[in-house]
Amino acid sequence: MSRFLSPRFAALEAYTPGEQPRDQQYIKLNTNESPYPPSPEVFERLNKDEIERLNLYPDPEGKVLKEKLAKLYGVGKENIFLSNGSDDILNFAFMAFCDEERGVAFPEISYGFYPVYADLYHVPHVKIPLKLDYSVDYKDYCGIEKMVVIANPNAPTGMEIGLFEIEEILKSNPNHVVLMDEAYVDFGGASAVGLIEKYPNLLVSMTFSKSRSMAGARLGFAIASKGIIEDLEKIKFSTNPYNINRLTLAAGEAAVDSDGYYKDNAKKIIATREKTVEALKALGFTVLDSKANFVFAKNNKITGADLYTQLKKKGVLVRHFEKEKIKDFVRITIGTEEQMEVFLQKTTEVLAQR
Ligand SMILES: *Cc1c(COP(=O)(O)O)cnc(C)c1O
Repeated sequence: MSRFLSPRFAALEAYTPGEQPRDQQYIKLNTNESPYPPSPEVFERLNKDEIERLNLYPDPEGKVLKEKLAKLYGVGKENIFLSNGSDDILNFAFMAFCDEERGVAFPEISYGFYPVYADLYHVPHVKIPLKLDYSVDYKDYCGIEKMVVIANPNAPTGMEIGLFEIEEILKSNPNHVVLMDEAYVDFGGASAVGLIEKYPNLLVSMTFSKSRSMAGARLGFAIASKGIIEDLEKIKFSTNPYNINRLTLAAGEAAVDSDGYYKDNAKKIIATREKTVEALKALGFTVLDSKANFVFAKNNKITGADLYTQLKKKGVLVRHFEKEKIKDFVRITIGTEEQMEVFLQKTTEVLAQR
């Protein structure tokens, strides 16, 4: 820290992303990326013509991409907000919809970025414990009179709450935004998008990073009532109007045009997930019920930290969290069938040494 940093950030603890090793020596099952490449349409679109136009600013409204997404999700163009990854939406939402007086509530075990944004904007936050089975208890959020942020399916558990529960939260907090972070919804979860007409306080965020194989391009989007989208646009146009670069916009358009390719990949990942869950259970693991492209698992024979370390030595990266309540677990991203076979083989070897 230099002596120039404003004292209001002195105590801020930044988010720690998962490891991104530069070398390719690992099977990377630690940051929930897709193991599959972008669609052939994306490859075609990012050609010499696109590069030639890099001298020009991108469309700050992202009109074409918004129209395509609106059509795909059966909403209006005015219900779509585009962002530089969905972290950008979280950032803008924390900036826009809560403050020192209006606090925010989110699950104690969830995406590690929520408390960081809350601290960044000096928003008092309530971390609500999960139930003993690691699920979110929707009743804890009913009538809470704060902004509510819930990842659904939740990370790192992979567990989901249903639309009935979400509606109860929405109904009982009519004066506060309820942000449903649906980064993983394409892997078998139920989306709340169909509720935006009925609930003007609902904000759904999604991303191209997980199911659409574009984590490196940084593209996210939100779907909500016209009013909420206008608020987000106001914040975006007050900070960085060109928050999505030209190549990413083009790639996003091509990705939406080839939605079937990504739906097929999601199906493959779900099938691989179910196989992996069965195999892990056969090895004595407890595995939480996942609707995401990862599983959260623990084994009484070995600590989470030890399993993480031993697998890394064998060339497989998974994610371990030091938090007391989940330190026995590791989070394993679902890769290709072949990658998961190697992961299971290495895990079997590690357990055999216990
Ligand atoms: C990955 C993730 C995000 C952020 O993804 P972006 O790459 O910024 O779009 C947001 N929320 C959750 C719960 C995530 O796991």
